[in-house]
Amino acid sequence: MIAFFGFLRLIVLVFLFCFLFKYLYNTFWKHKKSNFFTNKKSTPPPIKEEQMKKDPICGTYIPESLSIKYKHGKKTLFFCSESCKEKFLKTEKNN
Ligand SMILES: [Zn+2]
Repeated sequence: MIAFFGFLRLIVLVFLFCFLFKYLYNTFWKHKKSNFFTNKKSTPPPIKEEQMKKDPICGTYIPESLSIKYKHGKKTLFFCSESCKEKFLKTEKNN
C-alpha cells in the first residue's frame, strides 16, 4: 500500500514537472520569439558600402564586387568588363 502511494506521488510529481516545464517553455520561448522579431524590426539591414574602383582602360567606376580583378604585380586592377581586361593585357604585351 505504501509502495502504491509512492508510485502515485511519483506520477503527480512527473505531471507537475511536465506542466511546469511546458509553462516555462511557453513563456520563455514566446518571450524570446517576440524579442527576436522586435530586434529584427528595429535594426535595419546593414547597407554595405562598397568601394568604387576605376577601370584603367575606359575610366568608369565599378563597385569592387562587380569588377573583374586582375593582379598586376603588387597592384590589383579592376576592370568593368572582360574586354577592358583584354585591352589592358594587349597593351601590356605591346609594351
Ligand atoms: Zn572598362
